[in-house]
Amino acid sequence: MVLNSAYLSVLISLISFALSYEILSTATQANSTITPDSSNTAYPLSYCGFNLIRANYKSTPLDLSPKSHIGSRFLQETRENEWSSLRIHIEYMDLNIPNSQIDYIKRIVKGSVKWYENTLKVKRLTEKLKLESLEDCVEVKVPQKDKTEGEDADIILYFTAGRKYPSIFGYASNCATDAETVQPIAGILYIDTSSLSQLSDEDLYSTAIHEMAHLLGFDPELFPNFTKPDGTKYSTDEMFINSND
Ligand SMILES: [Zn+2]
Repeated sequence: MVLNSAYLSVLISLISFALSYEILSTATQANSTITPDSSNTAYPLSYCGFNLIRANYKSTPLDLSPKSHIGSRFLQETRENEWSSLRIHIEYMDLNIPNSQIDYIKRIVKGSVKWYENTLKVKRLTEKLKLESLEDCVEVKVPQKDKTEGEDADIILYFTAGRKYPSIFGYASNCATDAETVQPIAGILYIDTSSLSQLSDEDLYSTAIHEMAHLLGFDPELFPNFTKPDGTKYSTDEMFINSND
């Protein structure tokens, strides 16, 4: 995945912003269940539930190589050679929220998705994205049509909302990766509507953008796979900044 250069500084700021919150919130999220400490509602230390989710769920690698060409003399490539804008397909799953909030929440999610589609580029899959052997994506069941028909997309986003975890604003995580490139191909975004009335449009939009950064790759589990343009991996020193230096 590469960035349009115009957005690079914006994304770096976003990632730094995300990283600082994650470090600050690690101490309060060290428990291994999805039960955030409800007594800790201070903004912004408890607004992101990514660490809680990641402690319980691992991403599943899926083989995306075109099956129909096995045995053929000319094997079809899994991905195109050119870089193109990222395509994110949104599936709205269990939206346990009042009808009056649904359109508003959907607009926020669509806006965040559009932002990333305008910002990131990928080598697109040459065939439809199918999640053939994926049963669940964290807390949602993968719809049958995503396993059989697939989507013209590079990543499928399952969006859910409700009031399950009132001490966080939301969480996101990828749940499947391309076994070859280790880039996320499916993920979940959850927004908790308990504190919706206290959040401005900008707060909610920035929460959705922050969470989607986790889904798309801002995930310590994926850091060892980050690759430079020349094909080599980043060293630990290049990846992490020691705050004592
Ligand atoms: Zn976070």
